[in-house]
Amino acid sequence: MFSQAMLGLAAAIVVITVVGVYLALRREDAQAALGDVNDQQGLPPSLHPVIDLEVCIGSAGCIDVCPESLLRAKDGVTFIHSVGDCVGHGRCEVACPVDAIKLVFGSAQRGVDLPTLRKGYESNVDGMFIAGELGGMGLIRNAMTQGLKAIESVPRALARPGVPQLDDPDLVDVVIVGAGPAGLAAAVNCVVKELRFKLLDQYTVGGSVAHYPRRKLVFTEQVELPLVGKVGKRGDVRKEELMSDFERIIEAAPLSVLEGRRVVGIEGQVGDFRVRCEGPEGEELHRGRTVVLAIGRRGTPRTLGVPGEEQSHVVYRLIDAEQYRGRRVLCVGGGDSAIEAAVALAQVAGCEAHLSYRRDDFSRAKSKNQEQLQRMVTLGQLTLHLQTEVREIRAQEVVLEGPAGLENLGIDDVIVNVGGVLPTPFLESIGVEIQTKFGEA
Ligand SMILES: Cc1cc2nc3c(=O)[nH]c(=O)nc-3n(C[C@H](O)[C@H](O)[C@H](O)COP(=O)(O)OP(=O)(O)OC[C@H]3O[C@@H](n4cnc5c(N)ncnc54)[C@H](O)[C@@H]3O)c2cc1C
Repeated sequence: MFSQAMLGLAAAIVVITVVGVYLALRREDAQAALGDVNDQQGLPPSLHPVIDLEVCIGSAGCIDVCPESLLRAKDGVTFIHSVGDCVGHGRCEVACPVDAIKLVFGSAQRGVDLPTLRKGYESNVDGMFIAGELGGMGLIRNAMTQGLKAIESVPRALARPGVPQLDDPDLVDVVIVGAGPAGLAAAVNCVVKELRFKLLDQYTVGGSVAHYPRRKLVFTEQVELPLVGKVGKRGDVRKEELMSDFERIIEAAPLSVLEGRRVVGIEGQVGDFRVRCEGPEGEELHRGRTVVLAIGRRGTPRTLGVPGEEQSHVVYRLIDAEQYRGRRVLCVGGGDSAIEAAVALAQVAGCEAHLSYRRDDFSRAKSKNQEQLQRMVTLGQLTLHLQTEVREIRAQEVVLEGPAGLENLGIDDVIVNVGGVLPTPFLESIGVEIQTKFGEA
């Protein structure tokens, strides 16, 4: 009787141990696979989740709440399917019943550079504020809230002892750089506080939102803006609805936006900053007692630096593939954005899609994109020009150089996706201190 019980107990221990070891191995495999996936895909520039697989119980609560559908379950393990696409909603962290998810910047291998911020969104440079995604927190609502709050700190910074109180009509109280959600909200609060301001953007109003693909569904929270009222709504909205909200802000405040101004340098100090930018008619100088940097973290698209690139049929983002119906289009680049653009164009009826890449394979891109690309090539809907570089862009022609020499390709439009120039060197050049975060909360 006793020995039977002992035998039963021993059998139970063996079963539990075997199952435990099996699950641990599955978790290790999953963890290793996840590490590979994350390494290949790159990390998002702002907060993103990591899952502690030792703690995760596979409740799947996080999977259901992710507005971007980025979490998946396999073999009882939850993993982030496409971390590079995370925009930091953070709903997975809240939904996890066992606190297995935390939101971090970067990873142990890949650091993410963030400006050091003091209270009130002020950088280490007195009178220079940082609002929105540039500070590390993504999301439209966060960007707007921070834009409002940064302006709350301006009068305090200007009242500090020793700040020059110049009486000069050319000197505004705040120069706001970037007219995305953070910059727009900052400008509205300047109107409320009767601060004189200038709002500059290298492109147009709307920031990253303006560059989302046509009709993209965005998950937002409502923000209450003074003078304007409620902006956005909780849940899904289309990009176009958000853009009309931004137009409403501009009319209600009202705001005037200096578009087409790329800020390239900032000199001076609190009380008298000189903001240098490249404008439509050459170099411009804008003077502000304080500066709010609301330039996001997505960077400025890298250019090819070839003759003819300045023409209007050369762009750096695909927003609406349908507009290229009946056109011959060359995409340039080998990363996910270039492939996604080429694949989208290849699916538009009557569009002749080409993709030029200087290497001979697309191993850096997500496997899903590589598969779709291959499918379009096999179907004859997309022509690849591997190991080629663009040498010149003409009105209806592009000169490519490849292993066989120069080739003239009949092309109406060019979409360049060769990466972006991140804001870190610019921030360092103007004295803003940067910290690199390696997977830290
Ligand atoms: C594909 C995608 C999907 C997203 N989905 C969601 C979502 O569903 N919900 C959500 O809440 N958020 C989402 N986000 C994140 C959200 O768009 C950003 O967090 C938000 O736009 C940040 O606002 P911002 O004002 O800080 O920066 P941005 O929107 O990036 O605006 C920065 C502005 O600064 C300008 N600028 C940059 N450098 C200079 C310079 N040197 N001189 C002059 N101007 C300059 C840029 O042209 C830009 O207009 C998404 C982002 C992406 C890319």
